[in-house]
Amino acid sequence: MAVLVFFVSHWLLCVFFQSFFQHRYAAHRMYSMGPRTERVVHLLTYLVQGSSYLSPRAYAILHREHHAFSDTEKDPHSPHNFRDVMRMMWHTKKRYHAYVHEYEQPEARFLGGYPDWKLIDRTLGMSWWAPISWGVLYSLFYIAFATSPWMFLLLPIHFLMGPVHGAIVNWCGHKYGYRNFQGSDKSRNTLPVDFLCMGELFQNNHHKYGSSPNFAARVFEIDPTWQVMRVLAKLGIIRITTPQRAVYPEPREVAAREAPQVA
Ligand SMILES: [Zn+2]
Ligand SMILES: [Zn+2]
Repeated sequence: MAVLVFFVSHWLLCVFFQSFFQHRYAAHRMYSMGPRTERVVHLLTYLVQGSSYLSPRAYAILHREHHAFSDTEKDPHSPHNFRDVMRMMWHTKKRYHAYVHEYEQPEARFLGGYPDWKLIDRTLGMSWWAPISWGVLYSLFYIAFATSPWMFLLLPIHFLMGPVHGAIVNWCGHKYGYRNFQGSDKSRNTLPVDFLCMGELFQNNHHKYGSSPNFAARVFEIDPTWQVMRVLAKLGIIRITTPQRAVYPEPREVAAREAPQVA
């Protein structure tokens, strides 16, 4: 029981912080917070994501490229450019490392506006021993509390939680599900109620309204990360800075402007 509670909590918290901090804050700046609150959230993100912690800088650069070049050959992780999900993730990992270790420089428009904490993002984030130490801690927990050998099959998912979520969101979110909005990319909403990836699987809504902090657009869609953000904003912990724009059906003037012109 303890192992399953740990697995489910680690899964949901990792993807929540990825969506809340790396995605909606570092990459998109959908809300603001004071410098001390930012440090607390940054530290919490590191502690939760542990062995698979993602640098907000490298995440933001890759993700801004994904929006700018979505599903074209310059997209860093479109499922339409790869034969299988492993090849896509291997390519994404190489691009991510190039930006973490700064072997490569992105276009200037993709830089800036993300937090960069030397101790976490460079000293710990770029070390080989910190992820291994996290892995040892997860394993010790399993050794202490696992009640059946099959439970150990879950351990590799803890080690690679960030890439596992990235693979699900990037592969499924541009391949499977329904579309609310037409557009030049192939994004889809994979699940109507996305508790599995805390709202990240509303890719079609998010690509249409890239700055909207609520990824849900229809009455039956629920974006859990946005619900948490609303509470944090009410408590004065964060301030939402970009308007909620994801609306369905699309306002008529927007649809007309974007419809193909027929002579
Ligand atoms: Zn996408
Ligand atoms: Zn985005």
